[in-house]
Amino acid sequence: MNRNETNSSRGLEFVRRAAYYAIVGTSAHRLNTTRDARRARYTDPLCSGLHIREAGVSLSAPAAAFAITMSLAKNNKKASVNHRRSSSNKLSSPRDCKCEGSIMADVNKAGAGLSHLSLSSGENLFDAIRKTNATKCSAKAQEYFNTFDVDSDGYLNDREFDTLLKQLFCNKGQSYTLSKKQTTDIFKLIDENQDGKIDLKEFTECWHHWLKQILDPVTALVVVDVQNDFISGTMAICDCPAGQDGAAVVPCINKLLDTTRFDVVIYSADWHPENHISFIENVKDRKLHHTTKVSSENACKMDTVIFEGPPIVEQKLWPKHCVQGSWGSELHKDLKVVENAVFINKGTNPDIDSYSAFWDNNKLSQTGLINELTSRGITDVYVCGLAYDICVGATTAHSVEHGFRTVLIEDAARGVDVNDMKKTHDKLLRQGAALVNCDSVPGMVSADDRRPDLGYKAALNFAMARKLVKTESSQGGVKEKLSQDKKAAQTKAK
Ligand SMILES: [Zn+2]
Repeated sequence: MNRNETNSSRGLEFVRRAAYYAIVGTSAHRLNTTRDARRARYTDPLCSGLHIREAGVSLSAPAAAFAITMSLAKNNKKASVNHRRSSSNKLSSPRDCKCEGSIMADVNKAGAGLSHLSLSSGENLFDAIRKTNATKCSAKAQEYFNTFDVDSDGYLNDREFDTLLKQLFCNKGQSYTLSKKQTTDIFKLIDENQDGKIDLKEFTECWHHWLKQILDPVTALVVVDVQNDFISGTMAICDCPAGQDGAAVVPCINKLLDTTRFDVVIYSADWHPENHISFIENVKDRKLHHTTKVSSENACKMDTVIFEGPPIVEQKLWPKHCVQGSWGSELHKDLKVVENAVFINKGTNPDIDSYSAFWDNNKLSQTGLINELTSRGITDVYVCGLAYDICVGATTAHSVEHGFRTVLIEDAARGVDVNDMKKTHDKLLRQGAALVNCDSVPGMVSADDRRPDLGYKAALNFAMARKLVKTESSQGGVKEKLSQDKKAAQTKAK
């Protein structure tokens, strides 16, 4: 198998795996060791025959939207529960009745009456509903639908939808300019049955899921590896080709933490055992693959070698750094650590390096970060720290792949190599991350500043999640299949 094939099949497996996790929930996420991961390759249904249909989604699209899919699945379930409740005339609480849950119950109520909201008032309609939980309320969806349905024909046409987008995507009252392609693409993603108009059912679903993310985002700040060794220790990035000062991120991050209320703050740390594969001091301890161009004796810092494994691992060599419990592995003393922070260690397996705070470099095992994010219903992930073109870039890319709206805070990150930083920047932009400076972050987190690129990303995720959930529920439930598949695998193993 050549390398391209390996990469593309790995990519395909990742998409399936992510879709699988998105639908079946988080219990299967924790693959903390390579051994667990290897075992999982045999028991994980995705590796043993069950292929969740990609639902027409191209592989270059984000893997699957965890948060949205989960909430969509949950909401569908809740809707059917509420439906049962209302048919027996029992309502558990006024909250259940009016503003929670049921997507379709309110939609079916005829003649909700003309909206009292007005497009002509000059006030931004979406500013009024931010942070009021209105995106949980189906009655509000109807109200807003009526407002934008100017000709009152029961549908939003493309012109009416344009007006909505102008109100939605703005920063402090100033609308962003959307290209024709952007508006058409978003319209098509929301228009589920592709009939060229958006009906109340489509609008209500997008209200609860797509608009909710934009108007009421749940945010995480991931502070990547702001550790002594990367600032003034054995791997100080000031000694790297770009000559940047790693300590410069500390005041930026502290200011961000002072000015912005994230729903959770996560600190990742490189946390290596003494015998870690990435240390040049250990290069002679493992057999090199015959295709490696340098020998163990001649290998230098930042050379890339291939270890025979198994598994075969490509590895850039670094000086010994961030050894567990050492001074070098500690967070910089001036970095503000907030209350209730979450700490994620990575690179703990001696045989595989981990640049990303989500996955190891071979995508065999995860750190637990995805659990921390999904269990909190996080929709938006902000990333900063060290180093831009390595761990920050890898974490940002995986966040996008997992379907989070992802923002890299560029002036709160420093890098190793200017060319690699440029490449990382371009790649992340293509993938759909937003790249901003610290100044923009408070407005984005509070949803005063609502950007079309992130809105488009959310629409893509929403459409994909909707398709995956509906495809699977029409196939009789993925959980059932997974358990059947697991039983079959276990029988086979016996
Ligand atoms: Zn490391």
